[in-house]
Amino acid sequence: MTWMNRNIIVVLLGTATSVTTVVTMLYLQGKIGLPLFGISGQTIFGGPLLAYIPVGAIFAGFLGSLGFLAGSLAMRNRPAVIALVAILGISMGLVYVAESAELEYYIGARGTTKSVPAFGHFLAVSAFHSRLYQWSLWQGGEGGESMASLLSAGASTAPHGQGTGDSKVDGIDASVQGVMASEDVSKTSAGRQLTEMTEGVESIGTMFKAHRAQSILLVLQTLGFALGGILVYVHLRSITYCKDCMLLLSKKGEKTRYFSRSRDMHLSVDEVLTKLRDKQLQQAIHAHLAKGVDHDGNWSEYCSTIEIQRCLQCRSHVMDFRAKHKEDKGWKSIQVLAFSTTTPEPIDFG
Ligand SMILES: [Zn+2]
Repeated sequence: MTWMNRNIIVVLLGTATSVTTVVTMLYLQGKIGLPLFGISGQTIFGGPLLAYIPVGAIFAGFLGSLGFLAGSLAMRNRPAVIALVAILGISMGLVYVAESAELEYYIGARGTTKSVPAFGHFLAVSAFHSRLYQWSLWQGGEGGESMASLLSAGASTAPHGQGTGDSKVDGIDASVQGVMASEDVSKTSAGRQLTEMTEGVESIGTMFKAHRAQSILLVLQTLGFALGGILVYVHLRSITYCKDCMLLLSKKGEKTRYFSRSRDMHLSVDEVLTKLRDKQLQQAIHAHLAKGVDHDGNWSEYCSTIEIQRCLQCRSHVMDFRAKHKEDKGWKSIQVLAFSTTTPEPIDFG
């Protein structure tokens, strides 16, 4: 299978677990009436600054990234950069769907969790006719404060609409009420003009603030959701891989020998390094196993390790040799006493 096909498969797996996670969270929100995806740090821990931490989205992203992680490890696929682009794209798409649905919940949508088709219909309608950019439906912006209210929107104990079950009707209802309320603010024509102007300016300002707060919210949630996938991506890219096959190497074995004295360690390591440089890999393994002891103890001050990894496709092997010195905080590699090489021959301990 080509590298690109493997990437498509692992991205699809990640998409599947991500979609499942988000849809489940939104479904549960409909059931229990509490926001899960949109939950913020403030909702859980308190403290206004924590409102900027999209805990729900981060949690969902970590769960969602498990498909990508499991698929990549199972297929030993080193992710391509395109996978990172896909992670960001999936995050944007799912945050859009989740926030569209949460806005519908917020303004009073109910009764959608009675059946799976009804819930699917609810999600589809809220996403394809998203009202995310109808700023007036959001609570209006007061900078950081509104972030909190937006992030925990669904937690509001007093939802705007009364929830007739049809969120569109609720939305229209609210607009009509808004218009009626503004009608009797002023009686005189001049007064009305002035009021309308003031209201116009105010509503533009409010819209801008709401827009900004909401945009920040969407960006934060997208990054929060993408975090899990990005960490998985970075982790997978840090694993040694076969450059010919773009496959993560699989560990074949590892053997460590321990020494109490510097001199003993150097005798062994010098012999192993000499053989490694002569490309006598199997002999180097034998030399390595011939000296020192195979278990750690209070007495040990030095150790040397050979690790063998292989590519499951082309069968090439990578041997990594390194010596370490015991320090207060644990074992520390001795930089000059290290060697790594790739070989087509199937080396092994034994
Ligand atoms: Zn290979």
